[in-house]
Amino acid sequence: MTSLEARLSHVRQQIEKATQHCGRSSNSVQLLAVSKTQPAASIRAAYELGQTAFGENYLQEARDKQQALSDLDIEWHFIGPIQSNKTRDIAEHFAWAHSVDRIKIAKRLNEQRPDKLPPLNICLQVNIDDEASKSGSSLVELSELVDCVQALPKLHLRGLMAIPLARDNYREQLASFTRLAEAMRPYPGMDTLSIGMSSDMDAAIAAGSTIVRIGSAIFGKRPKTN
Ligand SMILES: *Cc1c(COP(=O)(O)O)cnc(C)c1O
Repeated sequence: MTSLEARLSHVRQQIEKATQHCGRSSNSVQLLAVSKTQPAASIRAAYELGQTAFGENYLQEARDKQQALSDLDIEWHFIGPIQSNKTRDIAEHFAWAHSVDRIKIAKRLNEQRPDKLPPLNICLQVNIDDEASKSGSSLVELSELVDCVQALPKLHLRGLMAIPLARDNYREQLASFTRLAEAMRPYPGMDTLSIGMSSDMDAAIAAGSTIVRIGSAIFGKRPKTN
C-alpha cells in the first residue's frame, strides 16, 4: 500500500467513525481533497483510488493542473480567496466556489458563468470567529448576501463555509462550527455546510458538516510556500 493510499483510507475511516459517533450516515459527509501545492501526479494517484472531488486555492496553479488532468472526470472546487480578476476563470473552470464573501464577486461569477454549464455551486464564506485579518462575510451582512446570490440565475446557493481560528481543543472547535450551523438554520434551501480540515474534522462532523476539506491528512505535510 502506498502512503497516499494508507492516508486516504485512514481519512475515510475517520469520517465513518465521526459520523457513527453522532448518529449520521457516513454518506452524508463528502470528502473534498485539498490539493493545493500538490503536483498533478498526486491528484491523479488519489483519483485512481476513487477520490473525484478536489479543492484548490490558487488559480494559476489550479489551471495548470486542470490542463494536465483534463482526461479525468474531476469535480473541481475553488476554496481560496477570490479577487475580481479571478472570477472569469473560476466561473469557467470550476463546479463549486466555497469562498464567496461579497456581492460584487457573486455578480461577476454569475455574469461570467458560461450558459452551456450548469449553475456554479456557491458556498458563502462566513468569518465565524470575527477575525479582522480573515476573509468572510460577517454574520450581520450574511442575509443581504444570501438574498443577492439567490436572485442570480447562474449561481446555485448551496450553503455556508468557514475557516475558524486554529484551535486544538475539541469543545472550542465545536462551539465555532455550531455557530455556523445555527447561522444556516434560517435558510432551509441550503444543503451544504463546508467545514472541517485535517485537524478539526471530528468537531465539524459533529456540528453537521456535509463537506470536509482535507489536505495534509491525505497528501502529507505541504511543502512550505510562503
Ligand atoms: C489548505 C486548506 C484546507 C486543508 O487544510 P489541511 O489542514 O491541510 O487539511 C481546507 N480549506 C481551506 C480553505 C484551505 O485553504
